[in-house]
Amino acid sequence: MSQSGGSTAEGHIKGVLSNDLRSLSKTMTLVESSRPADRKLAEAVLTGLLPHAGKSIRVGISGPPGVGKSTLIEVLGTRLHAAGKQLAVLAVDPSSALRGGSILGDKSRMGKLCELPDVMVRPSPSGGSVGGVASRTRETILLCEAAGHDVVLVESIGVGQAEYAVAGMVDFFLLLVSPDGGDELQSIKRGILELADAVAVTKADSGTSGPAARLRESYRSALRLLHPAVPGWDPPALAISAHQDIGIEALWETVERHHALLRDSGGLDKRRTAQATTWMWRLVEEDLRVRSRSHPEVQQLEQQVAAQALTPIAAAQRVMKLLMNDDS
Ligand code: GDP
Repeated sequence: MSQSGGSTAEGHIKGVLSNDLRSLSKTMTLVESSRPADRKLAEAVLTGLLPHAGKSIRVGISGPPGVGKSTLIEVLGTRLHAAGKQLAVLAVDPSSALRGGSILGDKSRMGKLCELPDVMVRPSPSGGSVGGVASRTRETILLCEAAGHDVVLVESIGVGQAEYAVAGMVDFFLLLVSPDGGDELQSIKRGILELADAVAVTKADSGTSGPAARLRESYRSALRLLHPAVPGWDPPALAISAHQDIGIEALWETVERHHALLRDSGGLDKRRTAQATTWMWRLVEEDLRVRSRSHPEVQQLEQQVAAQALTPIAAAQRVMKLLMNDDS
């Protein structure tokens, strides 16, 4: 059995299955490592744990900086913990490598949650590309599930690619919007709105009145125009206040209702299978692109195409031949 740094795949598997947070953290560090020996061991560990994974509710929480993601996660997480759920909070933050650390690493951000026993709060892995970071987080979800966590919250930090990546790894994708800076329908990309299983307007401290309530109405109308991604599920627009504890319970009921609908209709397996295969192809495409762009002979072919000395079709065929023979 593979071995690296004194630890074996069996040791990691046993540690994770024993539901011990320290062992889980250790295995997460292994899975996040990009050292080839660690990757090999991580693959053996993940393969061994795969049959034990899959039993949690995976919820993605997304929205622009300052919208209230971490405040919501802290309030919702504390509530779920009090209800006896075993919780894990993960983050996807492709910029964390550049900033020299993740926002989630800052304990003051989710201080209360970090102090609760049995709650796993894990900062974003740093990995350069969105694909690299998101791959590690996908694998971390499996580890948490194998360890017995029944709710996994995945926060996407930063708009754009991180949001799409998170939407592609969860059962329920929640988009947060806030009434800060006016109650107009914000410039949320239509594409990301189409992926949302619910939209929640944050900072609705005065309940059913005020700018948050008006913004909620705008989103209600916008969501009605979209084609539902899950048959039988019309994504609702909710209003919540993490400060005043308004709408948080209703939000979780919405997540559970959606999960029951997916599970009972067979849609949950379908969604997860589709996510896994889509992800595989994304990684293949990303790898091909990186390899081909850095290949010196490919660069020469590109110049020939630019100089109209070679057709794009002929060049593409030669690129594929070069990559197929390249086993680096
Ligand atoms: P994030 O960047 O999306 O994680 O946003 P934060 O959770 O850090 O929140 C950004 C700011 O909004 C902070 O100053 C919070 O105190 C504030 N905030 C979050 N939730 C609420 C809320 O329910 N009501 C009000 N009034 N402010 C909130």
